[in-house]
Amino acid sequence: MTDTTAGELSRTRGDVPLVRALNVSKSFHGNEVLKGIDLDVHRGEVVCLLGPSGSGKTTFLRCINQLESIDGGRIWVDGDLVGYREVKGHLHHLNDKEIATQRRDIGMVFQRFNLFPHKTALENVIEAPLIVRGVARKEAQERGRRLLAQVGLADKPDAYPGQLSGGQQQRVAIARALAMDPKLMLFDEPTSALDPELVGEVLRVMRELADAGMTMIVVTHEMGFARDVADQVVFMDGGVVVEEGKPTEVLGNPQHERTRSFLRRMR
Ligand code: ADP
Repeated sequence: MTDTTAGELSRTRGDVPLVRALNVSKSFHGNEVLKGIDLDVHRGEVVCLLGPSGSGKTTFLRCINQLESIDGGRIWVDGDLVGYREVKGHLHHLNDKEIATQRRDIGMVFQRFNLFPHKTALENVIEAPLIVRGVARKEAQERGRRLLAQVGLADKPDAYPGQLSGGQQQRVAIARALAMDPKLMLFDEPTSALDPELVGEVLRVMRELADAGMTMIVVTHEMGFARDVADQVVFMDGGVVVEEGKPTEVLGNPQHERTRSFLRRMR
C-alpha cells in the first residue's frame, strides 16, 4: 500500500462520524417520543442537547447507549450499528452479552450520581475495570487515583459517597465513567440535581474533558456551558430536532419561534 492510499484510508475513517443517528424513532405505549431524529457527532466534538422537559432528550441519549431500544431508524457508534450485528448481509439483534460489550466504550453520567453507597470513591471508580476488564487491582487503583486527581478529588479516595457533596459525588461518577476509557461520554443533565453553588465545579471538569478532546453529548439546561463549550447545539421539541448549529447560530440567532420562546424562558 502506498503512503497516499494509507493517508486516504485514514482520512476516510476519520470522516466517519463517531455517532450517527438516522431517522430514529421511539414510542412508549403508543406515545411517540422520538419522531425521526438525525444527528452526526464527529470525533472530539461536544454536542449539547437542549429543549423543554419531555422533548425526548434523555430518551435519545438512552437509545444511543442501549438503555432503550429504538423502534425505527439506525444508530451507529464508531461505525458499528448499535444493537445489531451483520451476518451474511442479514441483521441480527445482539444478545445481552453482545450489548454489554458494545456499551463498554460509552461512558454515561446521570442526573443522580448512582454511586455504590457502601463503596469508597476509589472503589466506585475501579469497580468496572476490575470486574469487566479484569484489570489487576493495583493497576486499577493507581489509575483510579489519577482519575480522581483529574476531577479534583485527589484527597478523597477513601471517602464514602455519603461523606461527599453532590458536586463531589458527580465528579466521582465522571471519574468512574472515564475509568473504562470511553470513546464517547454521554451526560444526562449532570448538574440539575446539584445545589447552585456546586454546579460550577462539575461544569469545570466537563470543560476540561472537552478541551482534552473527548467526544461528548450533553443534555443540559446550562446555557453558558452550551454557549462556551459546545461545537454543536441541538434544540429538540416534541420528539423532533427543531434547529441545530453552532451555539452562535442556535443561541445567538435562533430561526424558529419554538427555539426563541424556549430561550426566553431559560433567561
Ligand atoms: P426530556 O429528557 O427531554 O425531558 P424524556 O426523554 O425524558 O424527555 O421524555 C420524553 C417523553 O417520554 C416524556 O413524555 C416521558 O414521559 C416519556 N417517557 C420517557 N421514558 C419513559 C418510559 N420509560 N415509559 C414511558 N414513558 C416514558
